[in-house]
Amino acid sequence: MKFSGSNVLVTGASRGIGAEIAKTLAQFGLKVWINYRSKADAAENIKNEIEANGGKAAIIKADVTNEDEFTAAIKTIIDSDGELSYLVNNAGITRDKLALRMSVEDFTDVINANLTSAFIGCKTALKVMGKKRFGSIVNISSIVGEMGNPGQVNYSASKGGLNAMTKSFAKEAAARGIRYNAVTPGFIQTDMTNELKDEIKVEYEKNIPLSRFGQPSEIADAVAFLLSDYSSYITGEILKVNGGLYV
Ligand code: NAP
Repeated sequence: MKFSGSNVLVTGASRGIGAEIAKTLAQFGLKVWINYRSKADAAENIKNEIEANGGKAAIIKADVTNEDEFTAAIKTIIDSDGELSYLVNNAGITRDKLALRMSVEDFTDVINANLTSAFIGCKTALKVMGKKRFGSIVNISSIVGEMGNPGQVNYSASKGGLNAMTKSFAKEAAARGIRYNAVTPGFIQTDMTNELKDEIKVEYEKNIPLSRFGQPSEIADAVAFLLSDYSSYITGEILKVNGGLYV
């Protein structure tokens, strides 16, 4: 894979899919900024692992739902490296409940964590990358934003919104040389899906044509492609990585 840019910010990179994206992008020679919110030790471990493998990494703390913190993090990166080439909006949460039991707070917390944070990231990236007329952003969405899921009215709304927002940013930013794409993972083995009961996991697996949950590295590979020069004519795309569960 070829990358004309030099560095990347991955939000929520202290564990799960974000951590794997950070490690993969470091292998391609990018300096990776590992964003975390609460688990400094976990972020430090990912940084150490990247450096032990000869990669470049730095840690940046920010709650990405907070505009001041998120934009300050991006400013720190610009002050340090002189540019931001790539952004992966990966941070996300679930607050699963059936709709009749879901409070407005359960709904807005998820919208803020999964959609508003990505808006802040996409907008700030447009501002800073626009100056260099180069950049690529990947939003980590979800299959649930495409097909819906019981117990996830809040989550599906956030990810469906993220898909639509990605397309609109792509159209607004193309003239400035900046690309916006999204990846929609199916069920991937992380802390988020470890919360599911075993019998539910077995039930889900029965419906997946590739007969298994995906690995975080399989999402990371798709993200690397969408950031890289290899996808230079792709923007506004929502790339499904779901083992065939929703095609
Ligand atoms: P995870 O293991 O729960 O990790 C989520 C990460 O996001 C953590 O590092 C967490 O940091 C961070 N985060 C959450 N809110 C944040 C905030 N406000 N500011 C900064 N960081 C924040 O989840 P995952 O499974 O890796 O999921 C990563 C992304 O993939 C999410 O957007 C998720 O919706 C999406 N996705 C996952 C699956 C799946 O099957 N796992 C499927 C489809 C889509 P802390 O450690 O501080 O909490």
